[in-house]
Amino acid sequence: MKPKATITFYGGAGSVTGANFLLETESNGSSERILIDCGLIQGGAIYEKLNFEPFAYDPGSIDAVFITHGHLDHVGRIGKLIQDGFKGKIYSTPPTKEIAELIMLDSLGVMEKELRGSDRPPLYDESDVATAMGMWETAPYHEPVTVGGVQAVFRDAGHVLGSAMIEFTVAGRKILFSGDLGNSPAPLLPPTEKITDIDYLLMESVYGDRNHEQNEERLHLLRGVIKDTMNKGGTLMIPAFSVERTQQLLFEIENMMERSEISLVPVFVDSPLAIKVTRIYKKYYYYFNSNVREVHRLGDGVFHFPQLHFTESTELSKAIKYQSPRKIVIAGSGMSNGGRILHHEKEYLPDPNSTLLLAGYQAVGSLGRILQDGAKKVKIMGTWVPVRATVVTITGFSAHKGSDDLVEFVADSERTLKKVMVAMGEPKSSLFLVQRLRGELGLQAVAPTGGEKIVLEL
Ligand SMILES: [Zn+2]
Repeated sequence: MKPKATITFYGGAGSVTGANFLLETESNGSSERILIDCGLIQGGAIYEKLNFEPFAYDPGSIDAVFITHGHLDHVGRIGKLIQDGFKGKIYSTPPTKEIAELIMLDSLGVMEKELRGSDRPPLYDESDVATAMGMWETAPYHEPVTVGGVQAVFRDAGHVLGSAMIEFTVAGRKILFSGDLGNSPAPLLPPTEKITDIDYLLMESVYGDRNHEQNEERLHLLRGVIKDTMNKGGTLMIPAFSVERTQQLLFEIENMMERSEISLVPVFVDSPLAIKVTRIYKKYYYYFNSNVREVHRLGDGVFHFPQLHFTESTELSKAIKYQSPRKIVIAGSGMSNGGRILHHEKEYLPDPNSTLLLAGYQAVGSLGRILQDGAKKVKIMGTWVPVRATVVTITGFSAHKGSDDLVEFVADSERTLKKVMVAMGEPKSSLFLVQRLRGELGLQAVAPTGGEKIVLEL
């Protein structure tokens, strides 16, 4: 039997979210159907409805699901896959399994709230998450996993804790699924592993057409915002995503305090999800880069300094406003479309001495975006709130590679690559990157559309 492999783009083609790819192989006398990621489609009600549509393949026919990392747009439909009949195994690195469980339960909670009063049940329930955990096996980076005639290895993507690129070997050919690629050098994580010998690559392209502010610039801006706000005696509010962004901010704020670059004001992490994720980060400290591991070894651990307070309970959270206004509050959600940050925004947006720092992507229609666009008053939990606080955006915190770094990553395998499939980006970004890979590296590059199947020559 001649070996065969195809990839079908069921999600994450022509869009950033909803990653879902099917790798079908025939080799060594066995045939496999392997899914890579099963993420939630995000981006407004019209798109989100698509999550409830049946999968375009039979989940019962899938042998295994490999998960690149724990972000919602990569794990958010695993529960539905199980409800619809998936009976195989799920594989990821150990931190990804633990982060995914928290993210899946958190997303279920959000869905239950949103669907209250409607007759539509959520995509999955708690028992589906428990079932997923029971069928979920883990392997650290570089330890091979065998599924029939296919071998898989997780390689460090440097995007969030435990994030992986997945390298499949089929009949001696290497096929790499990049997942999301980290913006290296990152404060906490090692750089994205160098890959030099793959035959086929399916890659992300969130920033396929743009570069980021440099790290130094970002730190300089953050230091300035903290100093200004504390000098005025105000509160600094930072709506932050729970995975990586919160931990990255804590690490950088701790460093600034240790170097006496900013005042020693209280720092509150006011998000139960971010607090739980931070615990996973501490548990897997040996996944950090050598610099952070050294800090961890020498001191009393990362994310641990006298000014830092984790306010998990509602009572502790409510007590934050009775503290002196000179403080930093990090809370979810990252786009202010829910979560405890709303309580702080209601309290401090009317205060001209306070600052709202936007350190992440703000989707059109979210409260974060409305504030970013300069609204003078906003409606929060049914009340109109005047905006007198300063609103600042820092873009350099992205956990994704910018365009130049994406091209450089691909260039490492220039010699062996037969085809690059560009996905997980808006069409404009993906097509721009395709052009760069063709023009600058002379590679065969394509941006497949939803449902497209690509045959790989083995
Ligand atoms: Zn991600």
